[in-house]
Amino acid sequence: MTLKIAILGSTGSIGTNALRVIDALDSGYEVTALTAHRNVDLLAQQIEKYAPKVVAVADPDAARNLQARLGDHRVEILTGSEGLTAIAEEGEIDIVLTAVVGAAGLPSALAAARAGKRLAIANKEPLVTAGELLTRTAKAHGCTLLPVDSEHSAVFQALLAGNPDEVERIILTGSGGPFRKCTPQDLDHVTREEALAHPTWTMGPKITIDSATMMNKALEIIEAHWLFDLPVAQIEVLIHPESIIHSLVEFVDGSLVAQLGHPDMCLPIQYALTYPRRLKGVSKHLRLEELGQMTFESPNLETFRALPLAYEVARAGGTAPAVFNAANEVAVHAFLTGKIKFTGILELVEHCLDKHDIKTDVSLEGLLDADAWARDQAQRRVERTRADRAPVKG
Ligand code: MG
Repeated sequence: MTLKIAILGSTGSIGTNALRVIDALDSGYEVTALTAHRNVDLLAQQIEKYAPKVVAVADPDAARNLQARLGDHRVEILTGSEGLTAIAEEGEIDIVLTAVVGAAGLPSALAAARAGKRLAIANKEPLVTAGELLTRTAKAHGCTLLPVDSEHSAVFQALLAGNPDEVERIILTGSGGPFRKCTPQDLDHVTREEALAHPTWTMGPKITIDSATMMNKALEIIEAHWLFDLPVAQIEVLIHPESIIHSLVEFVDGSLVAQLGHPDMCLPIQYALTYPRRLKGVSKHLRLEELGQMTFESPNLETFRALPLAYEVARAGGTAPAVFNAANEVAVHAFLTGKIKFTGILELVEHCLDKHDIKTDVSLEGLLDADAWARDQAQRRVERTRADRAPVKG
């Protein structure tokens, strides 16, 4: 039987790796739909190679550009976030792999859950913003949620070694990023280039900055809380600079079960596509004797304030995680475009959480409202700070 796959966000780092994985798997997988934000150059090449039935381009101008370029190529082109959602719930699609950057991927992830698809979820924002809603919807509609985030894929695999009630804790590993050894003061002078130079993983710019602030790990704590239905008190973070152990599960008898591999997203992508089977693929096999040793340490909670904040946010629940995530998205963008300092990222997130009046409404509308509120709040603060810093003519 051929499984039909939709890749939401096919021109990004996860999307292009997913296509490499599919190239390497034996037949049995068909690329039926692709979506992109606005990179129509690459999307046009992918259409040429994979001949999907339908594509969606979020940006309407880019969609027109693609249409003009393809001429009478027989592919249906949808646009906007409605286009993304239409693909996610399209009847003939079996697997939806979602790798849309940011909270923009939320409505389509929910649509796929409602349509009872196998949902391979690579971007953590939908689970952070709407974890309760998304997991509840998935359960109600027979949707299998499969994590693609490497840590969560590792936990998902390790959990197969026992029963849910035998889990003592989940240990999420993190490389610690480029500033692992830094004090809070050291972070004051961090440049964009330094923050974008991740020691072990090659990823898109948003997640690379999130790794440098450890906001990525903070979001992963909340993501794990919802995916594995565990209180955050049972989720811990361990720094493991080599990024070989992708995470662990500790069971009540004291056994630690881990999943190991080279730091390469192809393996978790592939497992989400082939689960419960394992197939030969593109991932290079790990030889521990070549590695020699692995190291571990506790995270520095003073340097990486995102971590303790994640526990507070998860405990507060309601709209707090949506605000946490949205404020961070604005902050990362502001840092990447030179509008705020590196340390301004966490300051901005903390500011928005302080100002936010947490609501218990976790409907899609309620969450999108909180998301929009946080973006607006964060954006205004960025502009105000910039105005204050501007030289005064005298
Ligand atoms: Mg991860």
